[in-house]
Amino acid sequence: MTDVILNDGVTPEAQTQAVRDLLATTPDKQLFINGEFRAPRSGQYLETHDPATGKVIARIANASEADVNDAVSCAQAALKGPWSKITPMERAGILNKVADLIEANIDELCELEILDQGKPWYVARWAEIPAAANQFRYFAGQAMNIEGQILNTSINYQPEGRDVQAWTVREPVGVVAAITPWNSPLVLTAMKLAPALAAGCTVVHKPAELTSLSALRLAELIHQAGVPEGVMNVITGEGAKTGSCLANHMGVSKVAFTGSTSTGRAIVDASKSNLKRVTLELGGKSPAIVLPDANLDLAIPGIANGIFFNSGQVCVANSRTYIHRSIFDQVLEGIAGYGAGLQLGHGLNRETQMGPVVSVDQAEKIESYIKTAKNEGATIVTGGQRLGSNGTFIQPTVVTGTQLNSAIHCEEVFGPVIVAEPYDDINDAIEWSNNSEFGLASSIWTQDFTHAQRLSRQIQAGTVWINSHSMFDASMPIGGIKQSGYGRDSGKLALDNYLDWKTICAVV
Ligand code: ADP
Repeated sequence: MTDVILNDGVTPEAQTQAVRDLLATTPDKQLFINGEFRAPRSGQYLETHDPATGKVIARIANASEADVNDAVSCAQAALKGPWSKITPMERAGILNKVADLIEANIDELCELEILDQGKPWYVARWAEIPAAANQFRYFAGQAMNIEGQILNTSINYQPEGRDVQAWTVREPVGVVAAITPWNSPLVLTAMKLAPALAAGCTVVHKPAELTSLSALRLAELIHQAGVPEGVMNVITGEGAKTGSCLANHMGVSKVAFTGSTSTGRAIVDASKSNLKRVTLELGGKSPAIVLPDANLDLAIPGIANGIFFNSGQVCVANSRTYIHRSIFDQVLEGIAGYGAGLQLGHGLNRETQMGPVVSVDQAEKIESYIKTAKNEGATIVTGGQRLGSNGTFIQPTVVTGTQLNSAIHCEEVFGPVIVAEPYDDINDAIEWSNNSEFGLASSIWTQDFTHAQRLSRQIQAGTVWINSHSMFDASMPIGGIKQSGYGRDSGKLALDNYLDWKTICAVV
């Protein structure tokens, strides 16, 4: 059993001077508007904590309506400035430079993200921060691929002796509000900012109040890469105040949102103000289906990693798994053993395999799901406890014997908690998978690729992985169906979120 927390209650020494300075001074972090840091007009700040120790690491500005207005006005002005004149190749050059700067500052960005969010070093250093850089590189390429069409018209009422020529062009949609969550702050931000900037939009970014530090540093790097003043702005603050004000703003043309389904609904309501466009990447309860012929050397660590990576705070995490009864005990034991063997600790410690969850509220929410499941008669195969003296550590937890309609089985727990149940008939596993308000992701584990391919068409989800889970690439569209949202991040499709079509028709 995992019962030791590395560096319990202690902050290990940071490797970068910037983060050592941050820890030494507990600074007030300002808003980033029009290419400079500015104190909020509200004069208000919110504390931000290290979830591994509970200590305050900085205060972030709590932007008021006046601050949001400033940021949106600057973004509107910047739409008409030099940003609208630069060539696609120059824009691509700037985006590639952003990627270079992320890579040049990768250790600092990782340490900021670890302190603010709680993730382990390896998650930040080898998965998320490089993936953020890749988003900018991928969309640098896409910036040079924005094309309209020549239209083949049948208009026969043009003046005698004249021709009609018609074509479409693509134009940036305008000011984009990027509203992002706290689970993977920098990479999820990059997934909005890179295509928005590639399309020629200007951006006001509202990061999650729990994890705003890396976003402020990224804005500085984007500015350093050569983006003109006002193109990239960051306003920090509470969701219900700063976020809501931004989502309602008449000067915003599009909201790109990742977060909970309930906040997604609030964003749709807010969008009615000026019928701004919205894309939503929301919650999930993604199933992993393990067939009797699965390669268990792949399936057991793959499924365990799919739920315990980033302490289960991943929107696509396989938080439920349906395992064929013939191999159920073996797979259950394997996943539980993997979880119980994970080393918990502070993310700055390089040996840590799983960090805390992001906040006290989140830890209490997860504990409550586990407690309710126990009261309803479910079996906790491993884990189930909160650990440590100061941080918000939850043991990797495996639960079985749940009712199909119970909260832990249906709702998004967003923690290191997996529900595992046996099935006899694959049709039941498919039906249970689809019997969900969510439709974000899923995985199928089998060595029969033809069968997997057929099953992949029956699953209601935005992504189906075969013999893997949570595999991402900047080229692969990601997003949901049903109440997991609409629109896609990553891939060519994502660029469309930030572009309008204009039709031009000429008598020549
Ligand atoms: P969680 O509930 O897990 O904290 P949210 O979906 O509420 O996640 O948060 C995602 C992002 O949405 C955060 O940046 C948060 O500040 C913001 N947010 C929360 N409420 C609103 C709202 N009513 N309008 C706009 N943004 C919001």
